Amino acid sequence: MPSRLEQLCIDKGLKMTDQRRVISRVLSEANDHPDVEEVHRRAAAIDERISIATVYRTMRLFEEANVIDRLDFGDGRARYEEAGAEHHHHLIDLESGKVVEFTNEELEKLKEVIARELGYQLLGHRLELYGVPLNRRASASE
Ligand SMILES: [Zn+2]
Repeated sequence: MPSRLEQLCIDKGLKMTDQRRVISRVLSEANDHPDVEEVHRRAAAIDERISIATVYRTMRLFEEANVIDRLDFGDGRARYEEAGAEHHHHLIDLESGKVVEFTNEELEKLKEVIARELGYQLLGHRLELYGVPLNRRASASE
């Protein structure tokens, strides 16, 4: 059975080779936000013939077809996730690197209001939050 992302690629008319199929499966099954190296590690564990260059090329192809989203968490490494999942934002824990996904209705409305007040129809946006846990001092051992 094709993975969700593979089906999306087929729907977009992308030619699916075995290697692309493996890479799309890895991305579909990821619950985190892997970078290209991590996608390569996981794909090569399934098929060792998959090179990092193939992963780079395939990810770029997927990105151009809008079936995956490229994310920037401010550390200079591009992360990826399957596109078309429910709209959400990310909070990046600067101590552990953990990424927390969240949605907020009021935030979505506020962005529309801000754009409208500036005389624009909102077509897109990017938002990442960066923080440290509030209770980190209490839980530190020293
Ligand atoms: Zn996400």
